[in-house]
Amino acid sequence: MSTASSRQAWTLALLLALPACDRPPAPPASTPSMEVAFSPHGGCTEAVVAALEKATGSVLVQAYSFTSAPIAKALVEAHRRGVRVEVILDKSQRTEKYSSADFVAHAGIPTLIDAKHAIAHNKVMVIDGKTVVTGSFNFTKAAEEHNAENLLVIQDPALAEKYAANWKLHAAHSESYAGRGSEAEEPLLKPREKGVESPR
Ligand SMILES: [Zn+2]
Repeated sequence: MSTASSRQAWTLALLLALPACDRPPAPPASTPSMEVAFSPHGGCTEAVVAALEKATGSVLVQAYSFTSAPIAKALVEAHRRGVRVEVILDKSQRTEKYSSADFVAHAGIPTLIDAKHAIAHNKVMVIDGKTVVTGSFNFTKAAEEHNAENLLVIQDPALAEKYAANWKLHAAHSESYAGRGSEAEEPLLKPREKGVESPR
């Protein structure tokens, strides 16, 4: 065996031995990655829903206006499969007609109103402590269909930690919101009937 092929054999042996060694491989997820979507009709709502469908542990939401049926539905579905979902909304959501705020509150998702500011203008989701969804995009039908908006989906645990800390800061001075009316009054979508699309 030549020296070169012997070295190759050694390299191969080392590579094969690597998975068995005690040291865990470097996590590929540690490198932040980003995706962007733009509205109108550029995939913002789909990107939020796709991120929520992957949630396994927790979702922290900060929203200014919140009327998107697909996003509300994805939050409720996450809640029902055991993901800890918590929502902070601007005080304007108290007075909007039956909104997603009422829908998620009625579904049993802890919902808070942050009335400490002129407006609570954040549009943020922190998913599983590693994914941040944010941008100008409000979680609304208008933002999806009529506005010029942008939305970033960022995979970065260190950044997610900062957003989660800010979420907690606002949660601490927010008030619990029980929702108005009842599910039967004017439901955004029928919570117990999966696969039924909202007309809105
Ligand atoms: Zn606040």
